[in-house]
Amino acid sequence: MSSIALGDATAVRYTVTNMSTQTLITLPNTNLRQASKKVGYIDEKIHELIERMEAITLEWEASRDHEVGVALAAIQIDVPLRAIVVRNDFDNKEDKTFRAFINPVITKYEGEIVEDFEGCLSVKDLYGKVPRYNKVRVKALDLTGKEVRFSAEGFLARVFQHEIDHTNGTLFVDHIHDSPAAFYKLNEEGNLQQLDYEKDIQNSKTLWNK
Ligand SMILES: [Zn+2]
Repeated sequence: MSSIALGDATAVRYTVTNMSTQTLITLPNTNLRQASKKVGYIDEKIHELIERMEAITLEWEASRDHEVGVALAAIQIDVPLRAIVVRNDFDNKEDKTFRAFINPVITKYEGEIVEDFEGCLSVKDLYGKVPRYNKVRVKALDLTGKEVRFSAEGFLARVFQHEIDHTNGTLFVDHIHDSPAAFYKLNEEGNLQQLDYEKDIQNSKTLWNK
């Protein structure tokens, strides 16, 4: 048995028996809609968590013909801690390196709101046209515990908004719940096809935990 110690007084102690047994969770698992807790202390268990998240993202990618695993939040492997990993090069599948961000927050939203497609490892086979800010400022800790602050633009800004949403228990589908034209699925040829909102989405027990 091992555990993740959270130093901050408001945080509870979160215990994981063995990080290597944590696996990807998908909707309708309601844990995905829980807010995660702040990491108080970056110890060896947090490093193990990050390694597991990276391995699971790459395993998922290897099982998919047309998709790239670009990022993951800890809650997606059922660990409710504020930690995310983001791929260093989204355009080159051969680059299997990531960067980890602990307790990430968006400190400022900037630029225009832009709609674009996004998918999620925890929302099987579904894509959505989601409105996001084109530019955000992010504050986080790196794995040495040092504070990092930076701006992200375009697709990277979208990735941070999507992943930081996960730490707050929000999924991309929640942003487009009432947008009938925003839901797509990926067909076997790797093309996006619009879904029938009334038939496939509106009353989906998988998506809305109804
Ligand atoms: Zn996601």
